[in-house]
Amino acid sequence: MNIFDIKQNNRNKIYFYIRNSGLATRQDIAYDLQLSLPTVTQNLEYLVQQGLISSASKVVNKAGGRNPIAYSPIADAKVAIGLHITRHHIKTIIVDLDGNVLKYNYKRQVYERTDEYLKLLGEEVETIIDSIQLDRKKILGVGIAVPGIVNHEEGYVVQGRVIDNTGMKCEEFSKYIPYPSTLIHDSYASGFSEIWMTPDIHNAFYISLCDSVGGSVLLNDKVYMGDGLYSSEIGHLNLIPNGRKCYCGQKGCLDAYCNAEILADYTDGDLKAFFSQMEQGDEKLQIVWDEYLDHLAVAINDIRMLFGCTVIVGGYVGAYMKEYMDILYEKVDSKSPFSESSESYLIPCKNKIESVATGAALYFVEEFLKDIP
Ligand SMILES: [Zn+2]
Repeated sequence: MNIFDIKQNNRNKIYFYIRNSGLATRQDIAYDLQLSLPTVTQNLEYLVQQGLISSASKVVNKAGGRNPIAYSPIADAKVAIGLHITRHHIKTIIVDLDGNVLKYNYKRQVYERTDEYLKLLGEEVETIIDSIQLDRKKILGVGIAVPGIVNHEEGYVVQGRVIDNTGMKCEEFSKYIPYPSTLIHDSYASGFSEIWMTPDIHNAFYISLCDSVGGSVLLNDKVYMGDGLYSSEIGHLNLIPNGRKCYCGQKGCLDAYCNAEILADYTDGDLKAFFSQMEQGDEKLQIVWDEYLDHLAVAINDIRMLFGCTVIVGGYVGAYMKEYMDILYEKVDSKSPFSESSESYLIPCKNKIESVATGAALYFVEEFLKDIP
């Protein structure tokens, strides 16, 4: 570690101390982090200058004398944008350094592999920025989440089947987006956002129940991609030999039984309507939902047998799952060879708004916080 690393390290430590405590004085920081007062002062000045913390508050000095200045974090000092491209929608989100959603937009737009579509992506990003009159200097970057097998490091889609995007590079998607960009697999992005918001969970399997079924394995807070970059593509876990046809060409894949459209197709593509009509007593929908949960329970049990870690049920359907966890626990437990209760490891997702775009945006937040420049 050289002198530059130590400086970075102290800066990050001080920033995180203030972030975790919400309000901290110079003396608290020096004492708790065992740093000298001049070191703390120098870093505080830097962080104030960068706009990352505020020195506006004062705390009462109980011992009498002057009230010391207290520093507090400024969550929207920097922001990141997430862009989620699906078959039928373009979704954009802006999050701050605490992961708070500052704005969320979505536009119904059928995906096309055309330059006009790429222009639209650029317009959607500018629209959401303008809608909250965001200072563009605050933007860390735009995380672009797409379906398909994505090589995140090299920034291209290795294989796209849900939409026609095989071989497309990050530079293409961001052709009309004048900010740093990165390309992320959609399910990985949503799994990442869940782990980010659940600090006490470090290992988990995230099931994404969206227009297609996907997932991500998170080990030590990091997404495990696998050598072929398709780890956790549980949509193609064979559920019923010779069962329903899957979009991948095979038969009986989990996707053909548990994607969100399986439910939404009963209510004109409106998933919210599916759940509200079912709640109002629609018996046909109740049977559909019960069968859906039966299939999902098989997959959850398989995942638990493979990984033995926390399983998070997420995606569009996961956002409605909280009310139905007891039924799901029962169904999963009936398939378990062990006496453990799935209540101990199975949880619904926390993220209800748009976990994919949020996770894509949080990629830039994470990078920034890892090493505050
Ligand atoms: Zn399949």
